[in-house]
Amino acid sequence: MNSQPHVVIVGGGLAGLSAAVALTKQNFRITLLESRPRLGGRATSIIDQTTGELIDNCQHVNMGCCVNFQHLCELTGSRQHLITEHQLQFLGRDGVVNRLRNGWLPAPAHLAAAFACFSYLSLRDKIDLARGMWSLMRNPTWPGDSLIDFLNQSRQTSQAINRFWNLVLVSALSEDLSRISYHYARQVFVDGFLSHREGWKVQLLNIPLGHFYDGVIKSWLESQGVKLRLQAGVKQLELNGEVDSQITGVTLTNGETVSADHVILAVSFDRVMSLLPDQLANTEPYQSISQIESAPISSLHFWFDRPITALRHAVLIDRTSQWMFNRTAILNSEQKYGKPEKYAYQIVISNSRSTRQQSGVSQRTQQELVNEVHQELKEIWPETRTAQLLHARAITEHRAVFSVLPEIDKLRPLQQTEISNLQIAGDWTSTGWPATMEGAVRSGFLAAENVIPIGDLHAKSHVGATELLPSVFARVFMKNSNLKY
Ligand SMILES: Cc1cc2nc3c(=O)[nH]c(=O)nc-3n(C[C@H](O)[C@H](O)[C@H](O)COP(=O)(O)OP(=O)(O)OC[C@H]3O[C@@H](n4cnc5c(N)ncnc54)[C@H](O)[C@@H]3O)c2cc1C
Repeated sequence: MNSQPHVVIVGGGLAGLSAAVALTKQNFRITLLESRPRLGGRATSIIDQTTGELIDNCQHVNMGCCVNFQHLCELTGSRQHLITEHQLQFLGRDGVVNRLRNGWLPAPAHLAAAFACFSYLSLRDKIDLARGMWSLMRNPTWPGDSLIDFLNQSRQTSQAINRFWNLVLVSALSEDLSRISYHYARQVFVDGFLSHREGWKVQLLNIPLGHFYDGVIKSWLESQGVKLRLQAGVKQLELNGEVDSQITGVTLTNGETVSADHVILAVSFDRVMSLLPDQLANTEPYQSISQIESAPISSLHFWFDRPITALRHAVLIDRTSQWMFNRTAILNSEQKYGKPEKYAYQIVISNSRSTRQQSGVSQRTQQELVNEVHQELKEIWPETRTAQLLHARAITEHRAVFSVLPEIDKLRPLQQTEISNLQIAGDWTSTGWPATMEGAVRSGFLAAENVIPIGDLHAKSHVGATELLPSVFARVFMKNSNLKY
């Protein structure tokens, strides 16, 4: 008989995986139950039948300020798979590659010199944007948490809105500007771009998501003795039925019961209500979970017979396409396997709701979107006109992320539920972060921290990562800010 307390984690997305990673060094027996045949949840890959390649459902981007995701990589010895871009390349319709990179000034002015040279923004736009950034730093909150109200009040030009605010925020938060929370918009700019010289840097995995989560992380967890059970969907949680109820285990869809001392329910918000015990589901804050909305993201995959650009990524201005990722370069395929037969590129369109609404959602219109983006690629990189398009496809994840509507945090419950041995985790729970890998990892770490016994303060305090400390100047400018640092 094993005397270690048994922790059952339901859901093998990033939240569940992070909770498992954080608990491996503690005195627990851990079982992770995942309904699908693979780990990774929404950060996943599929086999493309035409090329036979493993392709990501969508390129996933991490930022330097996302320290817990990096901590997860360090804990699992997989940091070598995270590559950092030291500049961001913005391409306007004038064809100029504008490079955002650190200058010699400290944060928050580290990007000012590069930004001042951007060719597709006028001097007036830049002055308005600088004023807007200053105002964001000085105002930790805004009435009604309304970004659109803030933009109206801070008198941004329509060009600055379209080519900067909209571009950055729709990519980061995947929502219309009119539906975005001021708090989360501010977090993108202040935590990401203004507080620290490293916060804005984009990080990409150099292997497919499937190889990372369902390969590297999976093997690491198995090596630590975590029991991973795939295709093991949970139907319901079992309670002992007393007034001060405790969870006693979970029942799988095949009828099997798995007993547990602690359960971490790490499923998405649209799945959680059917699993929560009635005594929670019928009360606040859990009842409000049903009000959380979601937003779609589309990714378009192209394979050409030759390279169309040497850039590893590009942010595309005034286009339907928002980001280009050169998958052959990111996966370093040429170095690993020699000259490729085909060159892969991925175009990401966040908040693709509006793009798809223009043309509908049928298979035929996915093809229309592919054609439109192919045409854009020809305009941006002339090499595309002579390159043979070998294959192209679009993938739309309709419930990709939860919508960061104003005051969304009122709908996001804490990880510790009112049942002492039941935690909930997931990017949508209360983490202070939008729907990101970082938010999911944070939620898993927070749930794990709650499971560790109260007396073990040392272990508890070592679960999460240390935040990036804003520069002295950034702290002075934000002196009224209610940030957590
Ligand atoms: C198209 C797309 C693009 C994205 N781009 C980025 C990006 O660039 N950067 C970024 O940081 N984030 C990005 N994200 C968001 C990121 O993928 C998510 O925030 C993160 O993966 C969420 O992890 P999670 O563990 O909270 O939830 P999920 O990944 O949803 O995991 C929940 C898991 O629970 C399992 N499950 C559900 N019900 C049961 C049950 N009854 N029993 C057992 N298991 C169950 C599910 O199968 C799933 O594996 C993107 C997401 C999508 C879809």
